[in-house]
Amino acid sequence: MAVRSDKLNRRRLLQWGALTAVYGLPGRDEAAAVPAAGKARVLIVGGGFAGSACALHLRRLNPAIAVSLIDPDERYATGPMSNEVIAGLRDIDSITVARGGVRRAGVEVVPDRAVAIEVQRRRVRLGGGAVMAFDRLVVAPGIRFLADRLEGYGDAAAVSMPHAWQAGAQTQRLAAQLRAMQDGGVVAISVPSGLMRCPPAPYERASLIAHYLSRAKPRSKVLIFDSNNHFPRQDQFSAIWRELYPGMIEWIASTQDGAVVRVDAATMTLYTRGGPHVAAVANVIPPQAPGQLAPDAGLASAHGWCPIDALTFESRLQPNVHVIGDACIADAMPKAASAACSQARQCARAIVALLAGHEPPQPNLDSVCFSVLAPADALSMRARFHLHHGRIVPLQARAAAAAAPPAIVLRAQQAREAERWYRNIRAEAFGAALQRT
Ligand SMILES: Cc1cc2nc3c(=O)[nH]c(=O)nc-3n(C[C@H](O)[C@H](O)[C@H](O)COP(=O)(O)OP(=O)(O)OC[C@H]3O[C@@H](n4cnc5c(N)ncnc54)[C@H](O)[C@@H]3O)c2cc1C
Repeated sequence: MAVRSDKLNRRRLLQWGALTAVYGLPGRDEAAAVPAAGKARVLIVGGGFAGSACALHLRRLNPAIAVSLIDPDERYATGPMSNEVIAGLRDIDSITVARGGVRRAGVEVVPDRAVAIEVQRRRVRLGGGAVMAFDRLVVAPGIRFLADRLEGYGDAAAVSMPHAWQAGAQTQRLAAQLRAMQDGGVVAISVPSGLMRCPPAPYERASLIAHYLSRAKPRSKVLIFDSNNHFPRQDQFSAIWRELYPGMIEWIASTQDGAVVRVDAATMTLYTRGGPHVAAVANVIPPQAPGQLAPDAGLASAHGWCPIDALTFESRLQPNVHVIGDACIADAMPKAASAACSQARQCARAIVALLAGHEPPQPNLDSVCFSVLAPADALSMRARFHLHHGRIVPLQARAAAAAAPPAIVLRAQQAREAERWYRNIRAEAFGAALQRT
């Protein structure tokens, strides 16, 4: 197992860090990429919730470690609350953060893309040509979209049929299409099967789009074409839709011919096995897999995602490389920002321990997902996890959620908690001073 073999290499690893510093390895032209003498260096690829939070936790836990964060984008729009932007309840600036808070914490921010990992030489190659050395590498590239799994979908189709599953320009595009739509139009949401980012979010999105339509375009409908037969908190969502948006949202399960198998962006048509469905607005969420760097660097297993040691989040396939966030297989943990930050915390603690030659501490993992249904109305799903025989399992067997939704006062309270949670998680991942850009 990677953690155990690592024990043997810790001293050598620290010596290596010092050697690369002293001798300017891996090459004179690359000497600037090597940390100051004696400092261990942790490189982090990907400045989303997982990578950025890990950088901040490492700096807080041990300021002696040199931490560099590699991400091509200076600004990052959060998935959480992006459905509110689509519904016109927030603007995109309110969910966009910059890297200032991370820099102020002493993290070196490298505005570039990692294009290759040389695991044996412990180096990362960047798109701009630089090479950076590491003692430990954290890979947190989020997801990529498997457009080839959905006939007709690709970069061009994503313009007319935005997925909005990576917040930013796609979010704004979908929001603009809803504004431009005629009253009476059909908004189709296509949900993929398989592991995906934030499984409750399509149903939150349907709720918030219905909220917008019920005020602005009340003759319109939301059709959810689902490649699955169940979704999280299904009974509660269904009851709330009947209560808040009667007749406006229709969910079509896979067994009822809900799975979209092909799209034609030119005619705004979604095809299921049963035939064509034309939409005024089509939000097509494609199947997903980890960011491209993960398979390129040999971090992904045959089923596509990245297996990790659950104590340290070190890759089971490549030593000294950790994978956190949506890209990793974290067993029972959902692919969510809260889970990504929780993994980042544990990964940082483990790296600090390993670099010091100590045993990694036991994890204390958790996640919370809020689904906003309307202003001042939200559902929450919380879980805590521990390790059991090397797997991440819920701390308590999850009780089946009640079929009936919580009372409205409780939902209002959960909406306030969602706001608080969002402020806190932005502070944890991107630095407290970055509440607004
Ligand atoms: C509509 C929607 C609503 C959501 N709501 C919630 C919610 O309410 N609560 C919740 O907990 N979660 C929510 N999520 C999920 C959450 O957004 C993701 O789980 C979270 O962003 C995962 O973080 P990550 O760091 O793994 O990936 P990302 O946030 O995608 O970050 C990955 C980063 O890696 C960078 N990158 C990729 N490849 C490279 C490379 N080769 N070199 C350098 N950088 C690279 C990218 O630029 C990006 O900045 C939602 C998601 C969506 C789509």
